[in-house]
Amino acid sequence: MVEAPVIIIGGGPAGSTCARELKKHGIDVLVLDKQNFPRTKLCAGWITPKVLADLELAPKDYPHSLLTYRRIVFYIKKIPFPVFTHQYSIRRYEFDDFLLKRAEVPVYRHHAKDIRIENGKYVIDDSYKCTWLVGAGGTHCPVYKTLFSKVLPRDPQRCISTVEEEFSWQWNDPQCRLWFFEHGLPGYSWYVPKQNGFLNVGIGGKLTSLKKRGETINSHWNRFIRKLSRKGLVSGHRFSPKGHIYYLHGPTKNTRYGNAFLIGDAAGLATRDMGEGIGPAVESGKMAAGSIISGTGFSLSNITQWSVPQLLAGRFVAKNLPRPLNKAEKGP
Ligand SMILES: Cc1cc2nc3c(=O)[nH]c(=O)nc-3n(C[C@H](O)[C@H](O)[C@H](O)COP(=O)(O)OP(=O)(O)OC[C@H]3O[C@@H](n4cnc5c(N)ncnc54)[C@H](O)[C@@H]3O)c2cc1C
Repeated sequence: MVEAPVIIIGGGPAGSTCARELKKHGIDVLVLDKQNFPRTKLCAGWITPKVLADLELAPKDYPHSLLTYRRIVFYIKKIPFPVFTHQYSIRRYEFDDFLLKRAEVPVYRHHAKDIRIENGKYVIDDSYKCTWLVGAGGTHCPVYKTLFSKVLPRDPQRCISTVEEEFSWQWNDPQCRLWFFEHGLPGYSWYVPKQNGFLNVGIGGKLTSLKKRGETINSHWNRFIRKLSRKGLVSGHRFSPKGHIYYLHGPTKNTRYGNAFLIGDAAGLATRDMGEGIGPAVESGKMAAGSIISGTGFSLSNITQWSVPQLLAGRFVAKNLPRPLNKAEKGP
């Protein structure tokens, strides 16, 4: 039996941030993850400057792909709204590995399944034991399933269904583009270029609304890749996309039960407007660590719930437009 005061299940941004904070305060912690890092994580990889600030990471100190966007073009029902802003894209394959290594804590490859409470401690698969347990295993986190699913059922209305692919691609258009509500999609599709010749394209929408319309995210995906080809953004690539679901932030979150915590996607914290989840994962990881360190309460009600104000915190649209959009920038 491996024993530690704190065990974190999941080494994504939520888990690695929590681990790093605890380690900084001299608390022994270990991370269990079912995958070897670096690992693929389905995600467009857009991050705000706040995420880097929360991570205490200056852009110049990040040694992997980091592309800066000075402008993001939103299309609402095909009308372009360029937003002058300051945002970044990263590759999760690199970013998560970097953050987990930076935490400098022991990481065990282990697919956690069974969790029980024995003499006030948490025992995981009869192999790991801890006093404090942090569930950072994303949507399908076993800590959520075992300890929280009955007391904190997830609201199906907040479930987002996604399909995406990240691949090596010599893109010509360096702008991030987001298309909202096309063909009745209850969400948006994206074109997110990355540094060093990678591109992420994908689509996400509210699962219940899709079902109500008798649609699937895949039918919207097929239309989307035809559009990318028609517009010359991606043509001739053989797509093999993958899907994933996750949950948007709901009303007040009390994701502590005894000495067990839920953070990041395990708690369902993505922003309500854009489905941004990396920032809330980092914020919640820090909060759980703070609660363990200081013995104080834990509430996720102050977590960022909206992304648009952060996007607009840069300079917004028309006033600052240096010139009209050209044909390529107008896009579809
Ligand atoms: C298609 C898509 C696009 C997205 N785009 C963006 C975006 O551009 N920007 C943004 O901010 N957010 C985006 N998000 C949301 C974002 O990816 C998540 O909110 C974020 O990854 C949450 O981080 P996390 O650490 O909570 O979970 P994760 O990053 O999912 O990490 C969970 C970890 O737990 C491990 N794990 C799971 N189960 C177990 C188990 N039983 N035992 C051991 N380990 C386990 C997994 O292997 C994984 O490493 C997107 C999501 C999707 C699906």
